[in-house]
Amino acid sequence: MINRALPSPPSVRYPVENRIGKRGTALRKFIFVTGGVISGLGKGVVTASIGLLLKLQGYRVSLQKIDPYVNVDAGTMNPYEHGEVFVTADGKETDLDIGRYERFLNESLSASHYLTTGQVYWNVIRKERSGAFLGRTVQVIPHITDEIKRLIRLPVEENGGEIGVIEVGGTVGDIESLPFLEAIRQMKDELAPSETFFVHVTLLPRLHDSGEIKTKPTQHSVKELRAIGIQPDAIVARTGGALPESVKRKISLFCEVPEKNVIEDPELPLIYRVPLVLYEGGLLDSIAAGMQLEGSPPKLAPWRERVEAAEKRTGRVRVGIVGKYVKVRDSYISIREAFVHAGAAEGLDVDLEWIPSEAIASGGGEAYLSGIDGLLVPGGFGERGIEGKVEAVRFAREEGIPFFGICLGLQCAVIEFARNVLGIAGANSSEFDPETPDPVIALLPEQRGVTDKGGTMRLGSYPALLKEGSVIRSCYGKEGIEERHRHRYEFNPAYRERFEAKGMRMSGISPDGALVESVELEGHPWFVAVQFHPEFTSRFLDPHPLFRGFIRACQDRRSSSSSPC
Ligand code: GLN
Repeated sequence: MINRALPSPPSVRYPVENRIGKRGTALRKFIFVTGGVISGLGKGVVTASIGLLLKLQGYRVSLQKIDPYVNVDAGTMNPYEHGEVFVTADGKETDLDIGRYERFLNESLSASHYLTTGQVYWNVIRKERSGAFLGRTVQVIPHITDEIKRLIRLPVEENGGEIGVIEVGGTVGDIESLPFLEAIRQMKDELAPSETFFVHVTLLPRLHDSGEIKTKPTQHSVKELRAIGIQPDAIVARTGGALPESVKRKISLFCEVPEKNVIEDPELPLIYRVPLVLYEGGLLDSIAAGMQLEGSPPKLAPWRERVEAAEKRTGRVRVGIVGKYVKVRDSYISIREAFVHAGAAEGLDVDLEWIPSEAIASGGGEAYLSGIDGLLVPGGFGERGIEGKVEAVRFAREEGIPFFGICLGLQCAVIEFARNVLGIAGANSSEFDPETPDPVIALLPEQRGVTDKGGTMRLGSYPALLKEGSVIRSCYGKEGIEERHRHRYEFNPAYRERFEAKGMRMSGISPDGALVESVELEGHPWFVAVQFHPEFTSRFLDPHPLFRGFIRACQDRRSSSSSPC
């Protein structure tokens, strides 16, 4: 399909409307980030870091993730394999890298910043069915690649972006990536040399015995990339330690990349330091030289200060997280990061203890939870582990341990309260027991007939109004909020009065009064549960107020329980 033995097609073969931008007019340039050797190298962090550095230089930057999977979006992907499903404000279910971009850039990205093979084919097939290609054979080149180029250009143009930074997921050599790599190769040919820049992120393995750093896998992956027609302009190399000059020289020679454009990407405990390290390593200078950018130095001071604060945290709190996917690091990545953000702002090191919900047997909360300063029950789907979560909530409620429930966490708190305080023994969610006599959590009437699993939930940003005098309102410091959702089930309004009569307050309500968006407990030090996902809007420079409020409550508990009296 893509054979570099053939000369690259002259750009006149492509209709003018498929050309990207116009030379010599408004600034519009594209940086492509590809990956070699293995997956999981942190291309997302490199992409986010490049975006941040350019933004801090004053450019309007647009970040995009290309996921070569055939899935139309990430909504049906398994968190065990792919990590968390992130949700944009406009309701697209995406790969977790979009969350990373938002956390670095401190911006909300729309659906068009995430692209999959499934979506590209979906668009082209719909067009074909509608007769748009009548009489023509629809092919990967040019029809699929034209659609890819259009979708790469879209988010940059939508927002008046000047520089698009596009991460091509997967590893060079994957079959799925080929049409995307061919499309970006075409863009390079169609644009002026200073309008594109290719960053290749690779791994430099170190031999155990000799400690020697090996460059061969990088050479091979660059060879693969060049066979597709893409010559990298810079190589960002993941190493276990420092990258010696001799190794840089070797990579430079074999991969035809200037030595100063071989940048070291060391292993760091705090990912928010990566932009500073890449900047000091000269990545921004290499990009500026290659793309003829004349920006002033990036305004790094606030970022640097927050990084230093994050590295210097003095206090410590222990938060227990009772969830289903606790063994997979990336399954709750936005929650993990939200604690890093809040901890940096509050000067607290938040020690997360991951507790598998299935391990907590009925009445056994104490064995797992007695040493924690706060409990968080995150979102999730399906019945497995639910009883353990309900038991954990009971323990936190009765012991006065700060409790933070997110989405399914709210639903478990409601079930627990119904069973143990209201005495409704059979209370459940109709998700876990469709026959329950007391569905305190239930499907809304408009969701009932839906059987498709992709994109059929309440997704994206919705407004809520917070009640005066509530804990949640004091955390946000305002009445009106907007937060992102991803769920099918809701608090059943038929039970509202019974809950309120016994002290569970509906502290956040949709503006039409129909939906319960948050609950809290009267007389408990800090018990807040929300139907939305606050972790999706926490940013490194703008930590989420609920995470801050929660860890402050954890600290209060810790200091009161360790006091001499
Ligand atoms: N499974 C629940 C629902 O669909 C909760 C979803 C979630 O926690 N994201 O309503």
